[in-house]
Amino acid sequence: MRPLILLDVDGVLNPWHRQGPDWLSVTAVCDGVAYPVVLNPEHGPLLLQLAHETGAELVWATTWAEHANREIGPLVGLPELPVIPVNSGTKAPHVHPKTPPVAAYVNRRPFVWFDDDLERADRLYLKHHENVDRFRIIDVGPRKGLRELHVEQAAAWLTSLHEEDL
Ligand SMILES: [Mg+2]
Repeated sequence: MRPLILLDVDGVLNPWHRQGPDWLSVTAVCDGVAYPVVLNPEHGPLLLQLAHETGAELVWATTWAEHANREIGPLVGLPELPVIPVNSGTKAPHVHPKTPPVAAYVNRRPFVWFDDDLERADRLYLKHHENVDRFRIIDVGPRKGLRELHVEQAAAWLTSLHEEDL
């Protein structure tokens, strides 16, 4: 089963502040509302390389939902990606609203999840969910967003999956 790489926008690709001179500072529209965002055009190539080298599939796991493909992806160098319907309304007590839709989507495929907003309760929910097998949440700090360190952690974990399967 091909692993997944779950990608958040706010706090991950769009941190609180620009992190370098090459970052874009633009306005992006979600559900008709314009938001200021800061984006790193190098993130897309970095993530595509991660997916390529590990045989994993990138998917959006963001409240931007399908807007991410139009408003965010092209600016960071990502192609159109599948979208996990995290706004779908299935909720569970004490867990982030994204977590139940993610569990429903992964269907026992291993996944890494880049997010800035997940807690112990989310890990426990996933751990005990029958639709979830192996996973690794990479906690990204929303001040700086996604950094190479996080991508390296994801690469190491995804590579270890292949070793386990041998
Ligand atoms: Mg976030």
